[in-house]
Amino acid sequence: KLILAIETSCDETAAAVIKNGNEILSNIVASQIESHKRFGGVVPEIASRHHVEQITVIIEEAMKEANVTYNDLSAIAVTEGPGLVGALLIGVNAAKALAFAHSLPLIGVHHIAGHIYANQLITDLSFPLMTLVVSGGHTELVYMKEHGSFEVIGETRDDAVGEAYDKVARTLNLPYPGGPHIDRLAASGEASIDLPRAWLEPDSYDFSFSGLKSAVINTLHNAKQKGIEISKEDLAASFQESVIEVLVEKSKRAATEYDVKQFLVAGGVAANKGLREKLKEQFTELGIELVIPPLYLCTDNAAMIGAAAFVHLEKQQFTSYTLNGNPGLDLEND
Ligand code: ATP
Ligand code: MG
Ligand code: FE
Repeated sequence: KLILAIETSCDETAAAVIKNGNEILSNIVASQIESHKRFGGVVPEIASRHHVEQITVIIEEAMKEANVTYNDLSAIAVTEGPGLVGALLIGVNAAKALAFAHSLPLIGVHHIAGHIYANQLITDLSFPLMTLVVSGGHTELVYMKEHGSFEVIGETRDDAVGEAYDKVARTLNLPYPGGPHIDRLAASGEASIDLPRAWLEPDSYDFSFSGLKSAVINTLHNAKQKGIEISKEDLAASFQESVIEVLVEKSKRAATEYDVKQFLVAGGVAANKGLREKLKEQFTELGIELVIPPLYLCTDNAAMIGAAAFVHLEKQQFTSYTLNGNPGLDLEND
């Protein structure tokens, strides 16, 4: 069973053809990073305009590379939300038009369900499982007792991890998106600067990164005022150590308490080398299977949307052709 999947929730225009929810026949991603870089972040209007220009080309390319026709498809899937409304609408309207024109069922997918299901493209999921979602807009621990069931047991109370990475990078004058740059600097630095760790209440699975972000900014600011030179590498390493320590500790506790068979990692920050290494080390010790997607499946793509949509296809859960983009879509009630 083949699904054409479309993703336009933020700043990548993406389309993919996925077989049986776990095999990638094509996976095309057009990133807009270069256009947003000079603004230091994603500009919604510019994102929408790029999506409009790219969407038909990217879909055609995905169909061509997969070497399939619309007659071969079982459904068309699209990211319904959350994301930038103007960006979401481009993908949703393209999906609706194609589904209608070719009399195919339509499947609306939650973007974070997509990030989680990126893992199904590399291995079979075994339940119950826990996922650490770390992306540009989300930081949460999601428990799944079966396919399509999502329980958010903890989430950030302020900034998402990716957001904190990007803001810290900006104060260090690193280009957008800053995550990969901090990751690289951290590898050659010493975590010698004392920064806070937001553990919150002892039993909480929630996160908080705005205090850490402010501490980094204050450290830089104070040093500048005193005329002291601070090593960017050491600051990056210290920031990254604080982030990773909290993420990994809460992940381990959640995996143990919920007695899961698998622990998945999802979202753009799952590309972080320091995080990947620490998780591997700690989950090997715990004896719980750890799954982390390869880098190209961590950041936004449509293959993950096709993987998540397959669950709906199997249950014949289709979306009406009146589907709309929903920037505030809820994961648990999707
Ligand atoms: P969401 O998925 O929550 O809607 P998004 O789609 O914008 O947000 P993703 O594309 O999943 O987010 O991830 C982008 C984020 O990942 C950016 O904040 C980027 O800095 C971060 N990121 C990418 N690579 C790394 C890395 N190696 N280390 C840390 N952060 C990284
Ligand atoms: Mg992006
Ligand atoms: Fe994303």
